[in-house]
Amino acid sequence: MPDRAPRTSVATHCPYCALQCGTRLGHGASGTVVEPSDFPVNDGSLCQKGWTAPAVLDVPDRLRRPLLRGPDGRLAPAGWDTALDTVATRLRRIRDEHGPDALAVFGGGGLTNEKAYLLGKFARLALGTSQIDYNGRFCMSSAAAAGNAAFGLDRGLPFPVADLGAADTILLAGANPAETMPPLMRHLRKADLIVIDPRRTKTAERAALHLQPVPGTDLALALGLLHIAVSDGWCDKEYVQERTTGFDAAWRRAVTWWPERVEQVTGVPVAEQRAAVELLGEARRAYVLTGRGAEQHSKGADTAAAFINLALALGLPGVAGSGYGCLTGQGNGQGGREHGQKADQLPGYRMITDPEARAHVARVWGTTPDALPGPGRSAYELLDALGTEGGPRALLVFGSNPLVSAPHSARVAERLAALDLLVVADFVPSETARTADVVLPVAQWAEEEGSLTNLEGRVLRRRRLLPPPEGVRTDLEVLHGLAVRLGEPAHRYPTSPRQVFDELRRASRGGTADYSGITYERLDAGEALYWPCPERPGGQPHPGTPRLFLDGFATPDGRARFAEVDHRDPAETPDADHPLYATTGRVLAHYQSGAQTRRVPELNDAVPEPYVEIHPDTAARAGLREGGTARVTSARGTTVARVRLVGSMRTDTVFLPFHHPGAGRANLITGTALDPRSRMPEFKVCAVRIEPGSDA
Ligand code: SF4
Repeated sequence: MPDRAPRTSVATHCPYCALQCGTRLGHGASGTVVEPSDFPVNDGSLCQKGWTAPAVLDVPDRLRRPLLRGPDGRLAPAGWDTALDTVATRLRRIRDEHGPDALAVFGGGGLTNEKAYLLGKFARLALGTSQIDYNGRFCMSSAAAAGNAAFGLDRGLPFPVADLGAADTILLAGANPAETMPPLMRHLRKADLIVIDPRRTKTAERAALHLQPVPGTDLALALGLLHIAVSDGWCDKEYVQERTTGFDAAWRRAVTWWPERVEQVTGVPVAEQRAAVELLGEARRAYVLTGRGAEQHSKGADTAAAFINLALALGLPGVAGSGYGCLTGQGNGQGGREHGQKADQLPGYRMITDPEARAHVARVWGTTPDALPGPGRSAYELLDALGTEGGPRALLVFGSNPLVSAPHSARVAERLAALDLLVVADFVPSETARTADVVLPVAQWAEEEGSLTNLEGRVLRRRRLLPPPEGVRTDLEVLHGLAVRLGEPAHRYPTSPRQVFDELRRASRGGTADYSGITYERLDAGEALYWPCPERPGGQPHPGTPRLFLDGFATPDGRARFAEVDHRDPAETPDADHPLYATTGRVLAHYQSGAQTRRVPELNDAVPEPYVEIHPDTAARAGLREGGTARVTSARGTTVARVRLVGSMRTDTVFLPFHHPGAGRANLITGTALDPRSRMPEFKVCAVRIEPGSDA
């Protein structure tokens, strides 16, 4: 059992988003207190969520004992042995009857590197299933697919956040850091910002230029910007010639997207398109950054690729002081995708279908490559298959609340209800946990040791201030307990994060995300280590790689690849029944499904209920008033939200935050069209109608 003694204070990081602001935690008169540290990404600041994070440690409904659903249908407290024995027995029974792929695992982008790694190993060895994916699929998978194709490697930002501070111009496509990660804005103060977003967000308000396209048309806009960049002489021909391949194929598509056609499709005036390209072209140092707004589409990977094409034409990636990057969202969105909880990947960010990768990981795990399952279903496809003929019959959820955060929420609820066994490990009774057969109470951020990797690819230590409450175990202890009950050797599932990290380092060796030269000791000594950081036996320790691609891209020929992509409509466009676009997103006060932030009084008071932003003219036509309720209906269902009249909204679009449960779940209306390359669902656009609610 790891050391559980409390400490006076620790240097650690915020439990929420991918910026991973540095904090110092200590004990005050009224409990745990937090203050920002001078860690470079936040440099002494925190957002509202970071300041109030200690409140999550003491929420009144904190889970402290395992819960088992009894014959009366109610969840009742049980001992750990009973709970784990029950889960293991039922998993074995289902596996014996239906095969290993009848067991499934759903992980999370907030899990530490150690948990993500052990969860992937547990799924593939202890359960023997290919059916594992995680909620990060809903976060960054489109940009990851595009980045891998273009650069041969996907690291959200291939440069430190602080580099942004010297930029002259930054294009933000579908990103709203002023609300989602406010301390990042400190690094954007000097630059002229170009914001592409259908909404006039807080970030757009601070921009030199706000392009407000029709939802679902970002790809056409990116093609149009490339068209202008090339036609108006902003293309860096020497860079394209020397450092890239595939320009001609990309241009064949972009050449047809002349500015007037782009205006027709996107609604962005020609003058604004030209102004954006001029700002980028004239800048000595410029960045193109994408976020979920551009990526969460059924063509999200192609859209990210189109913005990469633009950056390549301007000669930005792999040049000091310029570049392309994706602003990853979840706390360990970067590390969470590198260590094997993705359906198609093994640790080290290796493809599970690669024979060499299988052989290497099998060696580290003490098994044979044949014993490792192949690729499984992607996150939504996995949820959609639960309880169906040939689909998984048992699901273990770690660090996720898919009942609120997955698209087409009613369908997900139906599939979860069809399972023979649902097990949820969490520290609060999330909406998904409340429907489970077994709930396992686990430790949270300030109660555990481990590591995370922030949006820059920098590996960080999470440190424990407090022991978990009596009766609560760590996720590593839970996985160990289950694996042993399933007949696995105990030593394969260490409960010490340090031991797991050391194994993860070996498993990652030689992979894209090589952590082999990173140790807890080096991190604890204050070294800033960005992967890849390979081990150099007997030599000077590798310094890590803060800036990628300066000497060439990670492709076989060292050149970045343009992508041949073209615009296509979203899966749904407005029609007579559903005449408006709906788009969803995040707000400052809440994080993901809100399971944590809705329990913090200050945050809940800030945004206590779901709402829908509507242009006053659109609202008037629908008979809606400020403060009344609206029913927002798509082909999949209806959600109910408080009306907010916002004059800067497009008249054809409504916006809903997705952090609330119940009848106000925004994901009751979102669609399930998936990107063919990344399997990202189309969260960012669907067709809806709006009507007055009961108290309109
Ligand atoms: Fe935490 Fe992100 Fe806010 Fe920083 S920006 S304090 S990491 S939620």
